[in-house]
Amino acid sequence: MKYAENILETIGNTPLVKLNVLTKDLPCLVLSKYETFNPGNSVKDRMALQMIADAEADGRLKPGGTIIEGTSGNTGMGLALAAIVKGYKCVFVMADKQSKEKIDILRAVGAEVVVCPTNVEPSDARSYYSVSKRLGEETPNSWYVNQYDNPSNCKAHFLSTGPEIWEQTEGKITHFVVGVGTGGTISGVGSYLKMKAREAGTTVKIWGIDTYGSVFKKYHETGVFDENEIYPYITEGIGEDILPLNVNFGVIDGFTKVTDKDAAIYTQRLAKEEGMFLGNSAGAAIKGLLQLKENFTKDDVVVVLFHDHGSRYVGKMFNDDWMQKNGFVE
Ligand code: PMP
Repeated sequence: MKYAENILETIGNTPLVKLNVLTKDLPCLVLSKYETFNPGNSVKDRMALQMIADAEADGRLKPGGTIIEGTSGNTGMGLALAAIVKGYKCVFVMADKQSKEKIDILRAVGAEVVVCPTNVEPSDARSYYSVSKRLGEETPNSWYVNQYDNPSNCKAHFLSTGPEIWEQTEGKITHFVVGVGTGGTISGVGSYLKMKAREAGTTVKIWGIDTYGSVFKKYHETGVFDENEIYPYITEGIGEDILPLNVNFGVIDGFTKVTDKDAAIYTQRLAKEEGMFLGNSAGAAIKGLLQLKENFTKDDVVVVLFHDHGSRYVGKMFNDDWMQKNGFVE
């Protein structure tokens, strides 16, 4: 018989799937690393498992402990699955702009969810950064994960996502395109791919997808943390108003910003034109990839990573009233 010992053993080894329609005007092959095949329906299962394993190994997380994290949902899902299998409790802190589905899903897998206001400064005591940090300090036998600055986040992608992409493309990958939030995915995959390309005598360009309202692109280009770049936006999962330690700007060749409207429209187009029912950051990623068209040539192999599943956005980007209310459709 061939079976997994538990659900955590099914994390990783996701497929690489060719895009055929939205990319038809590009000269190159475009492949998507399809992370919704993970048991929590997102790439975040990988780093959740790694962060827990490393915290167990060095004693930060002890038997029967409580895992505390500020999460937009996907990291929470990965942590919750691992917590169930390994016998921990979970408390998650979320910003109120996140979809209701994400909150309901986390409660469905047994987590306690605390909801905080989105549009307050990170340093404000009500912000989800501050509340998760405070709960970490106040709760006995707890471990505050801090995915933004936790090196196990980036490490998970260096050890699993990166090697999978290198092997699946037989080392032929020339560009990697991915949305950036905590930076774990782009930095871990990016540094692994650049290391392998160096060894092979080839090159891989790493492109980050950012949102309007986030600091990453400007910081990468100028080295200046410009507060004028920060304003509310709708796109979920990518962009930040802080500089997480997990963003390794040194492995990133460039950023492109995608508007909320384009990200929402392309989330719908992936579903309707490619049969890929995915989350909002996948829409941003594919639109950003199309914006980078002039960088690609005939023999290039471009890999875009799609982070999560469409089911978490049925009340938003897949809802016509919501699209209209936000002025994203006529
Ligand atoms: N897309 C979605 C839907 C996410 O949840 C995240 C994580 N915040 C990202 C993209 C960005 O990934 P990372 O945190 O590894 O930069």
